[in-house]
Amino acid sequence: MSIEDIYECRQCGYCCQGETTVSLDKNDQQRLSAHLGMPLEEVTQRYLRVSGNTVQMKIVDGHCIFYDHGCTIHPGKPWRCRQWPLHPSMIQDPGNFQVITSSCPGFKEDLSYEEFCRHMKDAL
Ligand code: SF4
Ligand code: SF4
Repeated sequence: MSIEDIYECRQCGYCCQGETTVSLDKNDQQRLSAHLGMPLEEVTQRYLRVSGNTVQMKIVDGHCIFYDHGCTIHPGKPWRCRQWPLHPSMIQDPGNFQVITSSCPGFKEDLSYEEFCRHMKDAL
């Protein structure tokens, strides 16, 4: 049993859309800076939105600034994007499971919460 049995990304881009996107921690910012080969200051000015302690990707035309028919910075993307949509909170809360599986078409149709938890525990 593996995660591929219950989930496969369809590259629909839905999770990269919206007026708020992913936030970046310090490691994410350093990884992005290294990936782009650009000083963090310049990366921040060009691509990030800073509000108090929260640092997020800028939004352009309703999607993450790095979205263009798919993520254009795969090796440099934030950890939350790497993890998505297999969020650990889905195991703890069936409500989260419902919300996330209904917004991501990559999950197998008719996947039950119990089946999902079994696969995730095997994969961990
Ligand atoms: S919403 Fe799901 S299937 Fe679509 S790109 Fe995001 S992770 Fe992949
Ligand atoms: S960094 Fe990539 S995967 Fe993450 S929201 Fe932006 S385009 Fe999507």
